[in-house]
Amino acid sequence: MSDPRATLKTSPYWWETAPIRPLDQTPLEKTVDVAIVGAGYTGLTAALTLVRAGRSVAVFDRQHPGEGASTRNGGITSGNIRLGYQELARRFGEKRAIAIEAESKAAREHLYRMLAEEGMDCEFQQTGRFSGAVNAQDYDSLAREAEKLHRTLGIEAYAVPQSEQRQYVGTDFFRGGSVRMDVGGLQPARFFAELLRVAQAAGVVIHSETGVETIDQDPTGFKVKTTRGTLSARQVIISTNGYTDRSDPWLRRRLVPVRSRIIATEEISSNLMNTLMPRQMMTSDTRILGFYFRPSPDGKRILFGGRDGTYHDDYTKPVAYLRENLNALFPELEQTGLTHTWFGNVAMHRDMIPRIFSRNGMVYATGFCGSGVVWAPWMGRKAAQKILGQADEAPSAFDFRPPRAIPLYGGKPWFMPFFMSKFRMQDRIKMRRDGRT
Ligand SMILES: Cc1cc2nc3c(=O)[nH]c(=O)nc-3n(C[C@H](O)[C@H](O)[C@H](O)COP(=O)(O)OP(=O)(O)OC[C@H]3O[C@@H](n4cnc5c(N)ncnc54)[C@H](O)[C@@H]3O)c2cc1C
Repeated sequence: MSDPRATLKTSPYWWETAPIRPLDQTPLEKTVDVAIVGAGYTGLTAALTLVRAGRSVAVFDRQHPGEGASTRNGGITSGNIRLGYQELARRFGEKRAIAIEAESKAAREHLYRMLAEEGMDCEFQQTGRFSGAVNAQDYDSLAREAEKLHRTLGIEAYAVPQSEQRQYVGTDFFRGGSVRMDVGGLQPARFFAELLRVAQAAGVVIHSETGVETIDQDPTGFKVKTTRGTLSARQVIISTNGYTDRSDPWLRRRLVPVRSRIIATEEISSNLMNTLMPRQMMTSDTRILGFYFRPSPDGKRILFGGRDGTYHDDYTKPVAYLRENLNALFPELEQTGLTHTWFGNVAMHRDMIPRIFSRNGMVYATGFCGSGVVWAPWMGRKAAQKILGQADEAPSAFDFRPPRAIPLYGGKPWFMPFFMSKFRMQDRIKMRRDGRT
Protein backbone atom coordinates (compact mmCIF):
# COMPACT_ATOMS: atom_id res chain seq x y z
CA MET A 1 0.00 0.00 0.00
CA SER A 2 1.25 3.54 -0.73
CA ASP A 3 2.38 5.80 2.12
CA PRO A 4 -0.89 7.26 3.45
CA ARG A 5 0.91 10.46 4.52
CA ALA A 6 1.35 11.35 0.86
CA THR A 7 -2.33 12.24 0.57
CA LEU A 8 -3.90 12.30 4.02
CA LYS A 9 -5.20 15.63 5.29
CA THR A 10 -4.82 16.14 9.02
CA SER A 11 -7.63 18.63 9.47
CA PRO A 12 -11.18 17.39 10.15
CA TYR A 13 -13.20 16.29 7.13
CA TRP A 14 -15.97 18.52 8.56
CA TRP A 15 -13.88 21.66 8.04
CA GLU A 16 -14.10 21.16 4.23
CA THR A 17 -17.65 22.49 4.28
CA ALA A 18 -17.64 24.32 7.64
CA PRO A 19 -14.17 25.77 8.19
CA ILE A 20 -13.09 27.35 11.46
CA ARG A 21 -14.06 31.00 11.17
CA PRO A 22 -11.55 33.47 12.67
CA LEU A 23 -13.35 36.23 14.57
CA ASP A 24 -12.41 39.90 14.69
CA GLN A 25 -10.94 40.83 18.03
CA THR A 26 -12.99 43.37 19.96
CA PRO A 27 -11.82 45.44 22.95
CA LEU A 28 -12.13 43.74 26.31
CA GLU A 29 -15.05 44.86 28.48
CA LYS A 30 -14.22 46.35 31.90
CA THR A 31 -17.02 44.45 33.63
CA VAL A 32 -19.48 41.72 32.64
CA ASP A 33 -22.08 39.76 34.55
CA VAL A 34 -20.62 36.41 33.49
CA ALA A 35 -17.24 35.42 32.03
CA ILE A 36 -17.18 32.04 30.29
CA VAL A 37 -13.93 30.17 29.68
CA GLY A 38 -14.09 27.94 26.57
CA ALA A 39 -16.08 28.60 23.37
CA GLY A 40 -17.25 25.11 22.40
CA TYR A 41 -20.83 23.79 22.49
CA THR A 42 -20.93 24.13 26.31
CA GLY A 43 -19.65 27.69 26.53
CA LEU A 44 -21.79 28.99 23.68
CA THR A 45 -25.00 27.35 24.89
CA ALA A 46 -24.42 28.76 28.38
CA ALA A 47 -23.75 32.20 26.88
CA LEU A 48 -26.86 32.09 24.71
CA THR A 49 -29.05 31.17 27.70
CA LEU A 50 -27.57 33.96 29.82
CA VAL A 51 -27.76 36.69 27.17
CA ARG A 52 -31.38 35.85 26.50
CA ALA A 53 -32.03 36.24 30.22
CA GLY A 54 -30.59 39.76 30.06
CA ARG A 55 -27.06 39.11 31.39
CA SER A 56 -23.92 40.60 29.82
CA VAL A 57 -21.51 37.83 28.88
CA ALA A 58 -17.95 37.56 27.55
CA VAL A 59 -16.76 34.18 26.24
CA PHE A 60 -13.02 33.48 25.95
CA ASP A 61 -11.20 30.88 23.90
CA ARG A 62 -7.47 30.42 23.72
CA GLN A 63 -7.89 29.03 20.20
CA HIS A 64 -10.48 29.94 17.60
CA PRO A 65 -14.00 29.24 18.82
CA GLY A 66 -14.91 25.61 18.13
CA GLU A 67 -11.34 24.53 17.55
CA GLY A 68 -11.52 22.14 20.52
CA ALA A 69 -13.62 18.99 20.33
CA SER A 70 -16.76 20.75 19.12
CA THR A 71 -15.81 20.76 15.41
CA ARG A 72 -13.79 17.53 15.49
CA ASN A 73 -16.23 14.96 16.77
CA GLY A 74 -18.19 12.19 15.07
CA GLY A 75 -21.48 14.10 15.24
CA ILE A 76 -23.34 11.11 16.69
CA THR A 77 -26.10 12.20 19.07
CA SER A 78 -25.45 9.24 21.33
CA GLY A 79 -25.90 10.91 24.74
CA ASN A 80 -24.21 7.85 26.25
CA ILE A 81 -23.62 7.36 29.93
CA ARG A 82 -20.72 4.97 30.32
CA LEU A 83 -22.00 3.26 33.44
CA GLY A 84 -24.98 0.92 33.20
CA TYR A 85 -27.95 1.27 35.54
CA GLN A 86 -26.72 -1.29 38.10
CA GLU A 87 -23.37 0.44 38.46
CA LEU A 88 -24.98 3.89 38.63
CA ALA A 89 -27.32 2.70 41.38
CA ARG A 90 -24.45 1.09 43.30
CA ARG A 91 -22.33 4.22 43.20
CA PHE A 92 -24.88 7.01 43.42
CA GLY A 93 -28.09 5.41 44.72
CA GLU A 94 -31.22 4.33 42.85
CA LYS A 95 -32.84 7.77 42.87
CA ARG A 96 -29.94 9.44 41.06
CA ALA A 97 -29.49 6.46 38.72
CA ILE A 98 -33.12 6.73 37.56
CA ALA A 99 -32.82 10.51 37.22
CA ILE A 100 -29.59 10.23 35.17
CA GLU A 101 -31.19 7.84 32.71
CA ALA A 102 -34.30 10.01 32.37
CA GLU A 103 -32.15 13.11 31.85
CA SER A 104 -30.31 11.53 28.94
CA LYS A 105 -33.65 11.37 27.13
CA ALA A 106 -34.47 14.97 28.03
CA ALA A 107 -31.01 16.16 26.91
CA ARG A 108 -31.31 14.53 23.49
CA GLU A 109 -34.79 15.97 23.03
CA HIS A 110 -33.46 19.38 24.06
CA LEU A 111 -30.82 19.20 21.31
CA TYR A 112 -33.36 18.26 18.64
CA ARG A 113 -35.74 20.99 19.80
CA MET A 114 -32.95 23.56 19.72
CA LEU A 115 -31.97 22.58 16.15
CA ALA A 116 -35.59 22.93 15.02
CA GLU A 117 -36.52 26.08 16.95
CA GLU A 118 -33.34 28.00 16.13
CA GLY A 119 -33.42 26.87 12.47
CA MET A 120 -29.92 25.36 12.75
CA ASP A 121 -29.07 23.70 9.45
CA CYS A 122 -26.43 21.09 10.31
CA GLU A 123 -27.42 18.11 8.16
CA PHE A 124 -29.00 16.34 11.11
CA GLN A 125 -30.65 13.02 10.29
CA GLN A 126 -32.33 10.87 12.93
CA THR A 127 -31.21 7.62 11.36
CA GLY A 128 -31.03 5.53 14.53
CA ARG A 129 -27.96 3.81 15.94
CA PHE A 130 -26.89 0.19 15.68
CA SER A 131 -24.74 -1.16 18.53
CA GLY A 132 -22.87 -4.28 17.47
CA ALA A 133 -22.17 -7.08 19.99
CA VAL A 134 -18.74 -8.70 19.82
CA ASN A 135 -19.87 -11.84 21.65
CA ALA A 136 -23.06 -13.66 22.59
CA GLN A 137 -23.06 -12.34 26.18
CA ASP A 138 -22.87 -8.77 24.94
CA TYR A 139 -25.76 -9.47 22.59
CA ASP A 140 -27.89 -10.59 25.56
CA SER A 141 -27.00 -7.42 27.48
CA LEU A 142 -27.81 -5.21 24.49
CA ALA A 143 -31.15 -6.97 24.05
CA ARG A 144 -32.01 -6.49 27.76
CA GLU A 145 -30.98 -2.83 27.64
CA ALA A 146 -33.09 -2.20 24.51
CA GLU A 147 -36.11 -3.81 26.15
CA LYS A 148 -35.61 -1.65 29.26
CA LEU A 149 -35.20 1.57 27.25
CA HIS A 150 -38.46 0.80 25.51
CA ARG A 151 -40.32 -0.17 28.69
CA THR A 152 -39.11 2.60 31.01
CA LEU A 153 -38.55 5.57 28.67
CA GLY A 154 -40.73 4.68 25.69
CA ILE A 155 -37.74 4.84 23.30
CA GLU A 156 -38.04 2.84 20.08
CA ALA A 157 -35.30 0.30 20.76
CA TYR A 158 -35.00 -3.37 19.87
CA ALA A 159 -32.58 -6.26 19.53
CA VAL A 160 -31.37 -7.43 16.11
CA PRO A 161 -30.24 -11.08 15.91
CA GLN A 162 -27.21 -11.88 13.80
CA SER A 163 -29.41 -13.47 11.15
CA GLU A 164 -31.01 -10.05 10.48
CA GLN A 165 -27.93 -7.91 11.07
CA ARG A 166 -27.09 -7.26 7.41
CA GLN A 167 -30.29 -5.26 7.08
CA TYR A 168 -28.56 -2.72 9.36
CA VAL A 169 -24.84 -3.02 8.77
CA GLY A 170 -23.11 -4.98 6.00
CA THR A 171 -20.80 -7.16 8.10
CA ASP A 172 -20.81 -10.55 9.80
CA PHE A 173 -18.33 -9.33 12.39
CA PHE A 174 -20.95 -8.66 15.07
CA ARG A 175 -22.95 -11.33 16.89
CA GLY A 176 -26.15 -9.36 16.50
CA GLY A 177 -26.84 -6.03 18.11
CA SER A 178 -29.47 -3.52 19.08
CA VAL A 179 -31.02 -0.46 17.53
CA ARG A 180 -32.25 2.71 19.19
CA MET A 181 -34.08 5.09 16.93
CA ASP A 182 -33.73 8.24 19.05
CA VAL A 183 -30.07 8.67 18.00
CA GLY A 184 -28.89 10.32 14.78
CA GLY A 185 -26.00 12.16 13.20
CA LEU A 186 -25.21 15.78 12.42
CA GLN A 187 -22.31 17.64 10.82
CA PRO A 188 -20.58 18.78 14.03
CA ALA A 189 -18.68 21.75 12.60
CA ARG A 190 -21.84 23.02 10.93
CA PHE A 191 -23.71 22.58 14.20
CA PHE A 192 -21.01 24.66 15.85
CA ALA A 193 -21.16 27.32 13.11
CA GLU A 194 -24.93 27.53 13.52
CA LEU A 195 -24.65 27.81 17.29
CA LEU A 196 -22.08 30.58 16.83
CA ARG A 197 -24.38 32.39 14.39
CA VAL A 198 -27.35 32.22 16.77
CA ALA A 199 -25.24 33.20 19.81
CA GLN A 200 -23.70 36.21 18.07
CA ALA A 201 -27.10 37.31 16.74
CA ALA A 202 -28.39 37.22 20.34
CA GLY A 203 -25.54 39.48 21.45
CA VAL A 204 -22.96 37.05 22.82
CA VAL A 205 -19.45 38.55 22.70
CA ILE A 206 -16.66 36.08 21.98
CA HIS A 207 -12.99 36.87 22.49
CA SER A 208 -11.16 34.53 20.17
CA GLU A 209 -7.48 33.60 20.63
CA THR A 210 -7.68 35.02 24.15
CA GLY A 211 -6.57 32.66 26.88
CA VAL A 212 -7.73 33.01 30.46
CA GLU A 213 -4.63 32.87 32.67
CA THR A 214 -5.92 33.32 36.22
CA ILE A 215 -9.22 33.87 37.97
CA ASP A 216 -9.16 35.44 41.44
CA GLN A 217 -12.02 36.21 43.77
CA ASP A 218 -12.53 39.87 44.73
CA PRO A 219 -15.28 41.71 46.65
CA THR A 220 -17.44 42.20 43.53
CA GLY A 221 -16.97 38.72 42.11
CA PHE A 222 -13.88 37.75 40.11
CA LYS A 223 -10.89 39.34 38.42
CA VAL A 224 -10.32 37.45 35.19
CA LYS A 225 -6.82 37.89 33.79
CA THR A 226 -6.55 37.05 30.10
CA THR A 227 -3.76 37.21 27.52
CA ARG A 228 -5.32 40.50 26.34
CA GLY A 229 -6.00 42.20 29.64
CA THR A 230 -8.05 41.88 32.83
CA LEU A 231 -11.78 42.30 33.40
CA SER A 232 -14.21 41.96 36.29
CA ALA A 233 -16.99 39.39 36.22
CA ARG A 234 -19.68 38.87 38.81
CA GLN A 235 -19.78 35.17 37.95
CA VAL A 236 -17.75 32.64 35.98
CA ILE A 237 -18.47 29.43 34.05
CA ILE A 238 -15.65 27.01 33.20
CA SER A 239 -16.29 24.99 30.04
CA THR A 240 -12.80 23.99 28.94
CA ASN A 241 -13.44 20.22 29.07
CA GLY A 242 -10.76 18.12 27.27
CA TYR A 243 -8.67 21.23 26.55
CA THR A 244 -8.31 22.37 30.17
CA ASP A 245 -4.82 23.85 30.38
CA ARG A 246 -2.29 24.70 33.09
CA SER A 247 -4.24 27.81 34.06
CA ASP A 248 -6.62 25.50 35.99
CA PRO A 249 -4.46 22.98 37.86
CA TRP A 250 -7.33 22.08 40.20
CA LEU A 251 -9.54 20.89 37.31
CA ARG A 252 -6.63 19.24 35.51
CA ARG A 253 -6.21 16.88 38.45
CA ARG A 254 -9.81 15.74 37.96
CA LEU A 255 -10.14 15.47 34.20
CA VAL A 256 -8.29 13.08 31.89
CA PRO A 257 -8.00 14.22 28.26
CA VAL A 258 -8.16 11.17 25.99
CA ARG A 259 -7.40 11.42 22.30
CA SER A 260 -10.08 10.17 19.96
CA ARG A 261 -9.15 9.83 16.28
CA ILE A 262 -11.22 9.56 13.10
CA ILE A 263 -10.32 8.45 9.58
CA ALA A 264 -12.43 9.32 6.52
CA THR A 265 -12.52 7.13 3.44
CA GLU A 266 -12.55 8.44 -0.08
CA GLU A 267 -15.91 8.33 -1.85
CA ILE A 268 -17.41 4.85 -2.11
CA SER A 269 -19.79 3.77 -4.88
CA SER A 270 -23.46 4.06 -3.95
CA ASN A 271 -23.96 0.32 -4.53
CA LEU A 272 -21.27 -0.56 -2.03
CA MET A 273 -22.49 2.05 0.48
CA ASN A 274 -25.97 0.54 0.24
CA THR A 275 -24.49 -2.85 1.10
CA LEU A 276 -22.28 -1.64 3.95
CA MET A 277 -24.63 0.88 5.55
CA PRO A 278 -28.09 0.05 4.16
CA ARG A 279 -29.91 2.30 6.64
CA GLN A 280 -27.19 4.94 6.99
CA MET A 281 -27.21 4.31 10.74
CA MET A 282 -24.71 5.56 13.28
CA THR A 283 -22.85 2.49 14.57
CA SER A 284 -20.76 1.53 17.59
CA ASP A 285 -19.72 -1.71 19.29
CA THR A 286 -19.48 -3.27 22.74
CA ARG A 287 -15.69 -3.38 23.13
CA ILE A 288 -14.22 -1.33 25.97
CA LEU A 289 -12.00 0.40 23.41
CA GLY A 290 -14.92 0.36 21.01
CA PHE A 291 -15.11 1.89 17.56
CA TYR A 292 -17.77 4.20 16.19
CA PHE A 293 -18.57 4.85 12.56
CA ARG A 294 -21.09 6.56 10.37
CA PRO A 295 -21.68 7.63 6.80
CA SER A 296 -20.80 11.20 5.86
CA PRO A 297 -23.97 13.31 5.68
CA ASP A 298 -24.01 12.95 1.86
CA GLY A 299 -23.83 9.16 2.30
CA LYS A 300 -20.69 8.79 0.15
CA ARG A 301 -17.93 8.03 2.70
CA ILE A 302 -17.44 6.22 5.95
CA LEU A 303 -16.01 8.07 8.94
CA PHE A 304 -14.50 5.60 11.36
CA GLY A 305 -13.29 6.52 14.85
CA GLY A 306 -11.73 5.09 17.97
CA ARG A 307 -9.09 5.71 20.59
CA ASP A 308 -5.82 7.12 19.30
CA GLY A 309 -3.66 5.78 22.15
CA THR A 310 -0.74 8.18 21.57
CA TYR A 311 0.32 11.62 22.76
CA HIS A 312 2.64 12.51 19.88
CA ASP A 313 2.22 13.90 16.35
CA ASP A 314 3.06 10.82 14.29
CA TYR A 315 -0.27 9.34 13.26
CA THR A 316 1.14 6.32 11.40
CA LYS A 317 0.34 3.78 14.14
CA PRO A 318 -3.09 5.02 15.20
CA VAL A 319 -4.22 5.35 11.57
CA ALA A 320 -2.97 1.82 10.80
CA TYR A 321 -4.86 0.57 13.88
CA LEU A 322 -8.13 2.21 12.78
CA ARG A 323 -7.61 1.02 9.22
CA GLU A 324 -7.07 -2.56 10.35
CA ASN A 325 -10.29 -2.49 12.36
CA LEU A 326 -12.24 -0.89 9.51
CA ASN A 327 -11.01 -3.67 7.20
CA ALA A 328 -11.95 -6.32 9.76
CA LEU A 329 -15.53 -5.09 9.58
CA PHE A 330 -15.65 -4.38 5.87
CA PRO A 331 -13.05 -6.38 3.89
CA GLU A 332 -14.61 -4.81 0.76
CA LEU A 333 -12.86 -1.55 1.70
CA GLU A 334 -9.30 -2.90 1.72
CA GLN A 335 -8.43 -1.08 -1.51
CA THR A 336 -10.39 2.07 -0.66
CA GLY A 337 -8.16 5.05 0.10
CA LEU A 338 -8.37 7.41 3.05
CA THR A 339 -8.56 11.18 2.63
CA HIS A 340 -8.50 12.63 6.16
CA THR A 341 -7.41 11.79 9.67
CA TRP A 342 -7.62 14.00 12.73
CA PHE A 343 -7.98 13.78 16.46
CA GLY A 344 -9.35 15.71 19.39
CA ASN A 345 -9.58 15.35 23.15
CA VAL A 346 -12.52 13.87 24.98
CA ALA A 347 -12.62 14.41 28.75
CA MET A 348 -13.21 11.78 31.40
CA HIS A 349 -13.77 12.14 35.14
CA ARG A 350 -12.63 9.32 37.35
CA ASP A 351 -16.21 8.05 37.78
CA MET A 352 -17.12 8.58 34.08
CA ILE A 353 -20.12 10.75 34.92
CA PRO A 354 -20.49 14.25 33.40
CA ARG A 355 -20.96 17.04 35.93
CA ILE A 356 -22.18 20.51 36.68
CA PHE A 357 -20.88 21.78 39.99
CA SER A 358 -19.85 24.90 41.88
CA ARG A 359 -16.50 25.59 43.43
CA ASN A 360 -15.36 28.85 45.01
CA GLY A 361 -18.40 30.53 43.47
CA MET A 362 -17.58 29.40 39.90
CA VAL A 363 -19.76 26.98 37.93
CA TYR A 364 -18.15 24.11 36.01
CA ALA A 365 -19.65 21.89 33.27
CA THR A 366 -17.27 19.11 32.27
CA GLY A 367 -16.46 15.44 31.62
CA PHE A 368 -18.77 14.34 28.79
CA CYS A 369 -16.78 11.15 28.11
CA GLY A 370 -16.98 11.42 24.31
CA SER A 371 -20.74 12.04 24.21
CA GLY A 372 -20.85 15.82 24.36
CA VAL A 373 -22.90 16.44 21.21
CA VAL A 374 -25.92 15.82 23.43
CA TRP A 375 -24.43 16.57 26.85
CA ALA A 376 -22.46 19.76 26.20
CA PRO A 377 -25.41 21.90 25.01
CA TRP A 378 -27.53 20.49 27.83
CA MET A 379 -24.94 21.09 30.55
CA GLY A 380 -24.13 24.53 29.15
CA ARG A 381 -27.77 25.48 29.54
CA LYS A 382 -27.96 23.91 32.99
CA ALA A 383 -24.82 25.77 34.10
CA ALA A 384 -26.42 29.03 32.94
CA GLN A 385 -29.63 28.19 34.80
CA LYS A 386 -27.57 27.63 37.94
CA ILE A 387 -26.16 31.15 37.58
CA LEU A 388 -29.65 32.51 36.94
CA GLY A 389 -30.91 30.88 40.13
CA GLN A 390 -33.23 28.61 38.15
CA ALA A 391 -31.52 25.33 39.00
CA ASP A 392 -34.02 24.44 41.73
CA GLU A 393 -36.96 24.63 39.32
CA ALA A 394 -35.46 21.91 37.10
CA PRO A 395 -32.65 20.28 39.11
CA SER A 396 -30.15 18.24 37.14
CA ALA A 397 -29.12 14.77 38.24
CA PHE A 398 -25.59 15.74 37.18
CA ASP A 399 -25.42 18.68 39.57
CA PHE A 400 -23.64 17.28 42.59
CA ARG A 401 -20.25 17.08 44.28
CA PRO A 402 -17.18 17.92 42.17
CA PRO A 403 -15.33 15.00 40.59
CA ARG A 404 -12.59 13.52 42.75
CA ALA A 405 -8.92 14.19 42.07
CA ILE A 406 -6.96 11.34 40.51
CA PRO A 407 -4.06 10.27 42.78
CA LEU A 408 -0.54 11.19 41.55
CA TYR A 409 -1.99 12.99 38.54
CA GLY A 410 -1.49 16.61 37.55
CA GLY A 411 -2.85 16.69 33.99
CA LYS A 412 -0.39 14.47 32.11
CA PRO A 413 -2.01 11.07 31.79
CA TRP A 414 1.10 8.95 32.37
CA PHE A 415 -1.10 5.97 33.25
CA MET A 416 -2.85 5.80 29.85
CA PRO A 417 -0.48 3.27 28.23
CA PHE A 418 -1.17 0.95 31.18
CA PHE A 419 -4.94 1.34 30.87
CA MET A 420 -4.85 1.01 27.08
CA SER A 421 -3.00 -2.33 27.40
CA LYS A 422 -5.39 -3.48 30.11
CA PHE A 423 -8.48 -2.59 28.06
CA ARG A 424 -7.03 -4.17 24.90
CA MET A 425 -6.44 -7.35 26.88
CA GLN A 426 -10.02 -7.29 28.24
CA ASP A 427 -11.33 -6.78 24.70
CA ARG A 428 -9.25 -9.73 23.50
CA ILE A 429 -10.81 -11.87 26.25
CA LYS A 430 -14.25 -10.70 25.16
CA MET A 431 -13.50 -11.79 21.59
CA ARG A 432 -11.99 -15.09 22.70
CA ARG A 433 -15.17 -15.87 24.62
CA ASP A 434 -16.71 -15.91 21.19
CA GLY A 435 -14.14 -18.33 19.85
CA ARG A 436 -12.23 -15.65 17.95
CA THR A 437 -8.48 -15.29 18.11
C1 LIG B 1 -12.59 12.74 17.68
C2 LIG B 1 -13.78 12.99 18.58
C3 LIG B 1 -14.97 12.31 18.31
C4 LIG B 1 -16.09 12.55 19.09
N1 LIG B 1 -17.28 12.00 18.71
C5 LIG B 1 -18.40 12.31 19.39
C6 LIG B 1 -19.66 11.85 18.93
O1 LIG B 1 -19.77 11.21 17.88
N2 LIG B 1 -20.75 12.14 19.69
C7 LIG B 1 -20.66 12.88 20.83
O2 LIG B 1 -21.68 13.10 21.48
N3 LIG B 1 -19.50 13.40 21.26
C8 LIG B 1 -18.36 13.15 20.56
N4 LIG B 1 -17.17 13.68 20.97
C9 LIG B 1 -17.15 14.55 22.18
C10 LIG B 1 -17.62 15.99 21.92
O3 LIG B 1 -16.99 16.52 20.79
C11 LIG B 1 -17.29 16.86 23.16
O4 LIG B 1 -17.81 16.24 24.32
C12 LIG B 1 -17.85 18.26 23.06
O5 LIG B 1 -17.50 18.87 21.85
C13 LIG B 1 -17.36 19.09 24.25
O6 LIG B 1 -17.71 20.44 24.04
P1 LIG B 1 -17.15 21.55 25.01
O7 LIG B 1 -17.73 22.83 24.59
O8 LIG B 1 -17.40 21.14 26.44
O9 LIG B 1 -15.57 21.49 24.85
P2 LIG B 1 -14.63 21.92 23.61
O10 LIG B 1 -15.38 22.02 22.34
O11 LIG B 1 -13.45 21.01 23.64
O12 LIG B 1 -14.19 23.38 23.98
C14 LIG B 1 -13.32 23.70 25.05
C15 LIG B 1 -12.59 24.99 24.67
O13 LIG B 1 -11.94 25.51 25.82
C16 LIG B 1 -10.85 26.27 25.35
N5 LIG B 1 -9.94 26.55 26.46
C17 LIG B 1 -9.29 25.68 27.26
N6 LIG B 1 -8.58 26.33 28.21
C18 LIG B 1 -8.76 27.64 28.00
C19 LIG B 1 -8.31 28.84 28.66
N7 LIG B 1 -7.50 28.78 29.72
N8 LIG B 1 -8.70 30.03 28.17
C20 LIG B 1 -9.53 30.10 27.10
N9 LIG B 1 -9.99 29.02 26.45
C21 LIG B 1 -9.63 27.80 26.90
C22 LIG B 1 -10.26 25.40 24.26
O14 LIG B 1 -9.48 26.17 23.37
C23 LIG B 1 -11.50 24.80 23.62
O15 LIG B 1 -11.88 25.46 22.42
C24 LIG B 1 -16.02 13.44 20.22
C25 LIG B 1 -14.82 14.10 20.49
C26 LIG B 1 -13.71 13.88 19.68
C27 LIG B 1 -12.45 14.62 19.99
